[in-house]
Amino acid sequence: MSDKPRSFPLSLDALAGKPSRPGAAPTLAQSRIATPQTATQNKAQNAGRASVPVYGAPSGITPSRAQAIANERAQPATAAAPRQNPLVSEAVRRAMVARIVKQGVQDQVVLDAMLAVPRHMFMDEALASQAYIDASLPIGHQQTISQPYIVARMIEVMRNGGALQRVLEIGTGCGYQATVLSRVAKEVFSIERIKPLHELAKANLRPLRVPNLRLQYGDGMLGLPQAAPFDGIILAAAGLEVPQALLEQLTIGGRLVAPVGDKLQHLQLITRAGKMEWTSEKLEACHFVPLRPGTI
Ligand code: SAH
Repeated sequence: MSDKPRSFPLSLDALAGKPSRPGAAPTLAQSRIATPQTATQNKAQNAGRASVPVYGAPSGITPSRAQAIANERAQPATAAAPRQNPLVSEAVRRAMVARIVKQGVQDQVVLDAMLAVPRHMFMDEALASQAYIDASLPIGHQQTISQPYIVARMIEVMRNGGALQRVLEIGTGCGYQATVLSRVAKEVFSIERIKPLHELAKANLRPLRVPNLRLQYGDGMLGLPQAAPFDGIILAAAGLEVPQALLEQLTIGGRLVAPVGDKLQHLQLITRAGKMEWTSEKLEACHFVPLRPGTI
């Protein structure tokens, strides 16, 4: 095929849009990253090939499953779209990860997970071309898909370099962060209070077949006592304080990361030090949608 780059892996510099040497021809990523049709084209390209690492290695997604995923998501675009390199989709994710590294995230396990999860599959078709920019974007119901950097940063802080058994996320939204979490923890539970978003996440996840992720419709402020305790809890919505129920559902030594505040928010890391003892640390500023009680 004519547009196949000659050597892999491409350098991160190349993928981030810098020429690999002065005067070099534009790389695949340089020439294609910014086109508005990129994501749609990716889907179309991925549909025709069995060996495309649409959704990379470690959690049991085989090339044939990746193929199935690509096929399922690509259908409307396949007929007319020109065939281009099948790695564009992974290439733009590499550029996204390179930006996350520049912003200070170092945990390789988290970076690998960010590289593996196809963020565009969690977004509306119309916004999919922006899936790999570092921004939060609307998903309907006045909610957003979180910015890639903050997703990575929160998981890095929660993981603290250790293995995670059971993790809880409050605020599934479209299911993106939950899917990233499913690659760093043995078991993941995620709660959403808005029924249509819970359904949206389920639909987004169906083709990805993530066996260790369970979605729950409910009020995450109450946690998930039937599955507790958790060695990690992440809140994807900001409250004025962290609900007590969640603190009590941490294992001893467990870590919770949450945005806290109203207009001015910061990330807070809470570690359970003992049965009745928690320590708290204030981290960087952030901006999240509000944590709200009840279900709708
Ligand atoms: N985790 C998402 C971010 C979603 S935005 C991602 O991967 O991008 C935050 C979500 O938190 C919204 O969907 C909002 O409805 C939800 N939310 C707010 N309060 C909640 C609560 N008490 N219980 C469960 N979900 C809640």
